[in-house]
Amino acid sequence: MFVILSKGYSELSQQSAGIVSGAIRKRPDLRLGLATGTTPLGMYRELVRMHREEDLDFSRVVTFNLDEYLGLAADHPQSAHTFMQSNFFDYVNIAPENIHIPDGTALGDLDQYCAEYEATIQRAGGIDLQILGIGRNGHIGFNEPSSSLASRTRIKTLTSQTLEDNRRLFQEGQPMPEAAITMGIGTIVDARKILLLASGTSKARALARAIEGPVTAFVTASALQLHRDVTILADEQAASELSESEYYRRDFEVDSRLRRAAK
Ligand code: PGA
Repeated sequence: MFVILSKGYSELSQQSAGIVSGAIRKRPDLRLGLATGTTPLGMYRELVRMHREEDLDFSRVVTFNLDEYLGLAADHPQSAHTFMQSNFFDYVNIAPENIHIPDGTALGDLDQYCAEYEATIQRAGGIDLQILGIGRNGHIGFNEPSSSLASRTRIKTLTSQTLEDNRRLFQEGQPMPEAAITMGIGTIVDARKILLLASGTSKARALARAIEGPVTAFVTASALQLHRDVTILADEQAASELSESEYYRRDFEVDSRLRRAAK
């Protein structure tokens, strides 16, 4: 794991957008896995700016979102579809046919629907770069504690903590979905490269458990320890419970120096 400690949220947003834009410039038909949530908002804003001011081209980029609330239609104000449109897709030149987000209102055999989402990722050639946030309980996607570390796209019941954390995004009195369609941990770790973003003190404990604790289905982000190409970007607050920060800083410095020398 490569842990990069950012000074604050704005630096974290710029660094993550820099990694995504670098990957798109290298491979214009990048297959990009995306996440909703408050954390990647600054990264999306920065990518939109790069599209407008630096000709960052999304016309051949293919995207796959991690999850969608079960039961929410695409046009529901709190759906992942609406989030992605209104915070990102509406402002870049992405081709609508290249956008993939699980359908929260899929009818019929849901197992078959989830298998089809997996097959679509496979047909596209797999995910090159997957963006992740992390929940306070250490989840990635909606892979709540107890999710199999080999799980694939499926329906997952949301924990009460996740419901509580996301209630702020729903109007008062509006019922919250109890479950979501989410890529599994197995799906996520099949991505060639993974970039996890963590910001704020509320994520500090989960991040420390994910990076420095044992690999366990009770902190599903800890499964990333077994992946060969993971970058974690954390701001100072999210990094506040890491015990090896000094080492991560030095690792970043040495790596940057060696890369500069190799150029
Ligand atoms: P957040 O959500 O970015 O809104 O904190 C992250 C998550 O729950 O995965």
